[in-house]
Amino acid sequence: MAKIGLRGLKHSYLKNPESDIDWALKDIDLEWTDGGAYALLGPSGCGKTTLLNIISGLLKPSRGQVWFGDEDVTNTPPDRRNIAQVFQFPVVYDTMTVHDNLAFPLRNRGFSKIEAEHKVIEIARMLDLEDMLPRRASGLTADSKQKISLGRGLIRADVNAILFDEPLTVIDPHLKWLLRSKLKELHQKVGSTMIYVTHDQTEALTFADQVVVMHDGTVVQVGTPVELFETPRHTFVGHFIGSPGMNVLPCTIENGAARFNGHAVETRGFAQPKAGAQRLELGVRPEFVRFAEDGIPVKIVKVSDTGRHRIVETRFDDVPIRLLVPEGEPLATDNAHVRFDPAHTQVYADGWMVDGAAS
Ligand code: ADP
Ligand code: MG
Repeated sequence: MAKIGLRGLKHSYLKNPESDIDWALKDIDLEWTDGGAYALLGPSGCGKTTLLNIISGLLKPSRGQVWFGDEDVTNTPPDRRNIAQVFQFPVVYDTMTVHDNLAFPLRNRGFSKIEAEHKVIEIARMLDLEDMLPRRASGLTADSKQKISLGRGLIRADVNAILFDEPLTVIDPHLKWLLRSKLKELHQKVGSTMIYVTHDQTEALTFADQVVVMHDGTVVQVGTPVELFETPRHTFVGHFIGSPGMNVLPCTIENGAARFNGHAVETRGFAQPKAGAQRLELGVRPEFVRFAEDGIPVKIVKVSDTGRHRIVETRFDDVPIRLLVPEGEPLATDNAHVRFDPAHTQVYADGWMVDGAAS
């Protein structure tokens, strides 16, 4: 096992990339600690698979290097990188039994027959595949085949990392929930570095200790689920994580104080963006907005009940402001106003959080 470093990584699928949009990965610098559980989270097309394939060596980056520990492996072929990769769709040998499919990654790697047998049983038990071991893989459902793929990825404990690329895509919803918690458990048991790619925030947040959020070929934030929730460094993170996502409202700044449509809004720290910022915004999650006697006057346009709380959609002019109201708390009626919790209200300049020291 090893620490994985990505340094100055850029990738384009074009021969002669010119403008920004020609790059699938723009400028990636990341260090993955040995033994960590990471998620790579971002919408479809943001570059997750490209990044994963560069780590495993299926793809050579246009620029930059990949390091495993003290070794630059940028030019090392995939079979010499000692990486296990599980893809979005099952990769199994149809003519082999489930048992032999699971045992395959152990072949010619110096495991004794008894050791290999022991491993196969262990993995089959964890993934609930024991009854199927003697069966041929060809007749199995997509669910079961993908479980075999997961098993093949997990069976060797001596790999540098295990990479999962949206591995639960073909899995039935109820089984998905089960496998998600199982993978977390497996990480604790196996201890290998795991990188889990997904566009689903719930999957990312349940699996990972550290989540890497990607947007348009760049990494916008690396953090624990709590950090991503409490201090999104970019409005994209605020928007993409949470349901509903963070409210993002246009604002102005006067003498270090934010104003939204003429209303002063108290924020976390002193809000002084760098000169020349084009777009100034306030970010506050619906969890930190409350109905109040005074504050910003709003019109309620929609209430949806989720059971634990109600999502209330309001408007100030055309600007939507959402808030979460816990079950049992009354909703405002006419003449509604909202207030933001200053400790959780941040200023963003051109998308990036303004890091104002507390005043
Ligand atoms: P994700 O896995 O996050 O959905 P990808 O890494 O697959 O994103 O894709 C990133 C960008 O690179 C997208 O714009 C996609 O269209 C492009 N891309 C991916 N694979 C190829 C390829 N083989 N050839 C050309 N462009 C590609
Ligand atoms: Mg992908």
